[in-house]
Amino acid sequence: MKLLEYEGKELLRAVQVPLPEFGGVIDKPAQVNSILKRLKKGPWVLKAQVLAGGRGKAGGVKLAKTPAEARAFAKAMIGMKMATHQTHGQTLKVEQVLVEQGVKIEKEFYFSVAIDRKIGSPVLIVSSQGGMEIETLASEHPEEIIKKPVDSVYGLLPFAARALAFELGVPAEYVSSFTKTAMTLVKLFINKDMSLLEINPLVLTPKGFVALDAKIVTDDNALFRHADFASRVDIESSPAEKEAKKHDISYVGLDGNIGCMVNGAGLAMGTMDTIALAGGSPANFLDVGGAANQERVERAFKIILKDPKVKTILVNIFGGIVRCDMIAEGILAALKKMKLKVPLVVRLEGTNSDKGREILDRSGTRLITASSLWDAAQKSVQAAGGKI
Ligand code: GDP
Ligand code: MN
Repeated sequence: MKLLEYEGKELLRAVQVPLPEFGGVIDKPAQVNSILKRLKKGPWVLKAQVLAGGRGKAGGVKLAKTPAEARAFAKAMIGMKMATHQTHGQTLKVEQVLVEQGVKIEKEFYFSVAIDRKIGSPVLIVSSQGGMEIETLASEHPEEIIKKPVDSVYGLLPFAARALAFELGVPAEYVSSFTKTAMTLVKLFINKDMSLLEINPLVLTPKGFVALDAKIVTDDNALFRHADFASRVDIESSPAEKEAKKHDISYVGLDGNIGCMVNGAGLAMGTMDTIALAGGSPANFLDVGGAANQERVERAFKIILKDPKVKTILVNIFGGIVRCDMIAEGILAALKKMKLKVPLVVRLEGTNSDKGREILDRSGTRLITASSLWDAAQKSVQAAGGKI
């Protein structure tokens, strides 16, 4: 889950990472006035709180020198639809703006901690060329990027932090400010089970290092250890994804029009691939899990139907511990309770599949049964209006 900049900065503040002085987070332009009174005199910085980087270039970061300027920026920013190079052609509506005290920048550094899956460890990625996107830096000046694995228990040790400061060319009087900040950031990354902690830029000011920006991605598999952000609603998730999360069903919304209800992640992947091979496009990835009973089937239908793009539903169940006849009963019971307005294709395989198919056939319910995954995929594509 991605955190907004101000949420990330709250975590940084809690461990005493130096930050620009916080003014407030506003959702109405008029709120800017009282915030400016609380802060020192300008310049102030207004920053659009959206889950994408590259805001600076897209008009989402503004330096205001006068209160009138700050009000004008707030007015322009709130409600603005923003597209940055990280939004992939889509736009994000700016609902909130962070107001901070402006900071005098001497030099911008790049600092991040991420997981390197190849070596199975957190890795530090730093550069003395901060401010610009790391992707640009990596392609134009890869020699300016320093990459160092850090121990996932000990974090960044003092000697390694000092060596890094020298490698980055940090002026001698600021080395201790750098090492303290770097070590704290790595520790925070580890303690909070993050998958990304990116400070771009980490700036050198006359008073030492300050984290000017914060991009944090948490590892959802570790949410059970972090009640503080487990309760947070994932801004990027759709209504269907929110509902699925509540019921512990793995669901990911996709762009196509065939809703898939499958048991097991591997089968879900296989189903999506087969649909694509048949010329169609899946609307989601939904794994009802091993304990697919009537209640879960019903819930899964409801989640799939929250997506208005769904033109047909494909149920693909491989009976192992869960028996196909039970699934068939579950489907019928669910259909009795809810009016399905789209065609339903069902493929049951494995334990008691014959019995399951018989139950469906005898029920007289309008659904399309399929004899194999390939057959099911083709029938679904046809039911959804043909190849895409
Ligand atoms: P991003 O473009 O979404 O990554 O937003 P950032 O928070 O990184 O801001 C973009 C750029 O705005 C930074 O690299 C700085 O150059 C500039 N900037 C942001 N805050 C301040 C500030 O307080 N003072 C000054 N002088 N520049 C700032
Ligand atoms: Mn940035």
